[in-house]
Amino acid sequence: MDKGTLSSLSWVNRFINETPGDNQINGPPRQIPGVCWSKVSPTPTPNPLIRLWSFEMAECLGLTVKESDILGGKKIVTGMNPYAQRYGGHQFGNWAGQLGDGRAITLGEVNTGQEILELQLKGSGVTPYSRFSDGKAVLRSSIREFLCSESMHHLGVPTTRALSLVTTGENVIRDILYNGKPAAEKGAIVCRVAPSFIRFGSFQIHSFSGDIQTLRSLVDYTVKHHFNTHNTQTDDDIIEWLRHVADETALMIAHWMRVGFVHGVMNTDNMSIHGLTIDYGPYGWIEDFNFDWTPNTTDSISKRYRFGNQAEIAGWNFARLLESISPLLETPRKLNQVLDFYFESYQKYSNDMWSEKLGLDEFIIGDDELIMELVRILQLVETDMTIFFRLLSSIKKPDISHLMNAFYSKEEIPESEWNIWLEKWWIRVKGNPNREKMNSSNPKYVLRNWMAQLAIDAAEKEDFTVALELHQMLKKPYSEQPEYEEKWFNKRPEWARHRVGCSMLSCSS
Ligand code: AMP
Ligand code: MG
Repeated sequence: MDKGTLSSLSWVNRFINETPGDNQINGPPRQIPGVCWSKVSPTPTPNPLIRLWSFEMAECLGLTVKESDILGGKKIVTGMNPYAQRYGGHQFGNWAGQLGDGRAITLGEVNTGQEILELQLKGSGVTPYSRFSDGKAVLRSSIREFLCSESMHHLGVPTTRALSLVTTGENVIRDILYNGKPAAEKGAIVCRVAPSFIRFGSFQIHSFSGDIQTLRSLVDYTVKHHFNTHNTQTDDDIIEWLRHVADETALMIAHWMRVGFVHGVMNTDNMSIHGLTIDYGPYGWIEDFNFDWTPNTTDSISKRYRFGNQAEIAGWNFARLLESISPLLETPRKLNQVLDFYFESYQKYSNDMWSEKLGLDEFIIGDDELIMELVRILQLVETDMTIFFRLLSSIKKPDISHLMNAFYSKEEIPESEWNIWLEKWWIRVKGNPNREKMNSSNPKYVLRNWMAQLAIDAAEKEDFTVALELHQMLKKPYSEQPEYEEKWFNKRPEWARHRVGCSMLSCSS
């Protein structure tokens, strides 16, 4: 057993040892009541090649050897015990029944000595939860997941991580625009990592089917291994746990708002119980600051998951989690206060977040007006969020001319409104904003939609240099990195305005 290989790691199988599972191994997609998981083998791929690799994640796991066969689903090693998780979820507000890991297979859990982390392959073939699909993932979505989850980590946003991206050497057929024109795309597998991939929907599925026993065992398991609360016997115990979930969820959303991340598919099956950003699909980054923007074409009419609605939707999702846990409480009514707590927490984190962005030393009464006014003016004309806030931190006097680069059309800038707001802010910060705070909260570099697309376009032609460059740059998103400035500290180029993959994204992945 060579040091630094996957087989040298200390594998544990807590989830499948301690929660109820399916008796059958593998098998076709089907309904499987009363279980939390099914054992399933990854489907071997013809030519797995590691293309992207997170050294930080590897180091944390104790890995020094890159094993493409294993991370490409071709073989497993002793200690791994692959399974797919069963869960359900509300999709776009409607209960969708059993979903589960349809294209994700957990290899096992690794005890690093510091913590226990779950390793999961995304795109490694059919599972009992694949419903009507193939369990595979395409290169385009895999690059987006790898780069974004790693960059979110370096931005300080709670997230699942990525260890590797492997191209599989096989094609996958996708109808990217859902217009009846399917095409072959390159297949890929991301190995992602998190304390667990348990979601709100993992609890909902048992509650919806009236299976209180399985619900109870999953709650016990989750609290025991993942939360510092004591137990789950009394209403107060459960409430204490749920308050942690509320707090972590609220914090995650405040971070999303800070950096301009729009998840795009905040279904309850895509809400991690740990308050981690999970399931990177048709997400997008705010370029033009616009609360109404959503990257997801499937959501373009109702815009349920738009930028400015994320805190509200996380609250709605959290309420569904509370409902699903309610059968375990003697007095379920008490859960109302936990929902209130979520919104209070969010408000607090949001205030802190805006204070940091604006370089205030603390949030005081009256600041909310300053912020509301800022949010209004930012939306009057197309204004680049990242550039605006980054330039704001180096302003020497309250004059909009310093911020010109943030605007798409120099003719339209509402200069007088801006100067009035800047004057108010300047008085509030006494001409001395906390620039250090601003620069560690307003990133200089984020994974703009067109940047990811450029990485994808090149990778489709076997050139991973753009992906590698972005991966490298996004490890230090708050540093000036002048070598990247000309190329990447830029507004969206015109070609990306209406291009699929940049201005809008499909769920097809
Ligand atoms: P998502 O919206 O990506 O979180 O996916 C919703 C559900 O569809 C989850 O249960 C996924 O596992 C499943 N799913 C998505 N894509 C595929 C695929 N290519 N094959 C099988 N299941 C999939
Ligand atoms: Mg999902």
